[in-house]
Amino acid sequence: MEFRYIDIHTHLNLEAFSEDWESARDRALTAGVACINVGTGKTTSERALTLAHSSQGVFATVGIHPTHTTGDEPEPFVYEDFRVLASDPKVVAIGECGLDYFRVSKDSKKLQEETFIAQIQLANELEKPLMLHIRGSEGSMDAYEDALAILKTHAKVLGNVHFFAGSYDVAKKFWEMGLTTSFTGVITFANQYDGIIKNAPIEMLHAETDAPYVAPVPYRGKRNEPLYVKEVYKRIAEIRGEEEESVREALLKNAMRLFQIDL
Ligand SMILES: [Zn+2]
Repeated sequence: MEFRYIDIHTHLNLEAFSEDWESARDRALTAGVACINVGTGKTTSERALTLAHSSQGVFATVGIHPTHTTGDEPEPFVYEDFRVLASDPKVVAIGECGLDYFRVSKDSKKLQEETFIAQIQLANELEKPLMLHIRGSEGSMDAYEDALAILKTHAKVLGNVHFFAGSYDVAKKFWEMGLTTSFTGVITFANQYDGIIKNAPIEMLHAETDAPYVAPVPYRGKRNEPLYVKEVYKRIAEIRGEEEESVREALLKNAMRLFQIDL
């Protein structure tokens, strides 16, 4: 199989694909699109790993999403359990982990922080990068600033800030630490990230779908899937005013470098 693209953050491991994940996977693979299925808790992490072992070009991450660490039934991060999962060579990152002040009340900050730090420690131990989910409260960069401080103190590995929704200044702070930022299909129908994408060093960018969520134009309103990451690649090239082919090559290389994969 020859891979020309990679969707670095997708969820064929979630409920939305329980009936037909294999056909969604095959539509991507046939088109030369590799993918990384991202765990959001223990069960979905195990599922991501099962999917990763189903084919060449399919990878996994394991971890607990910050919104699952709190609430009525918080999921504890059992370090040993995740260490076993994460030691599998098909696991290319720890996460998605981080801080979410948008969907979760700020009272949960302490618990989110502890779970985040434990996952950073696992990443350090296994020398695997972090798949970061960071979302501030309405109109604020609060979660990004807190995450930057935590990463500076604890992280010995690099990582990617998935679904980046911060400002250019915040993006720059991550890039300066060697962390990358990824963008979804949102950039095909909204322009608030164009400035960041245009001015970013190309080495610091990735494309993702975050499927089944936020399908790009022309699939808006439908269930998203890894194949559609091609639209995100295309849009990044358009925004930067660069050749699609050179952007494609650069983004593929970026993912191979960060996630230590051979495609
Ligand atoms: Zn996700």
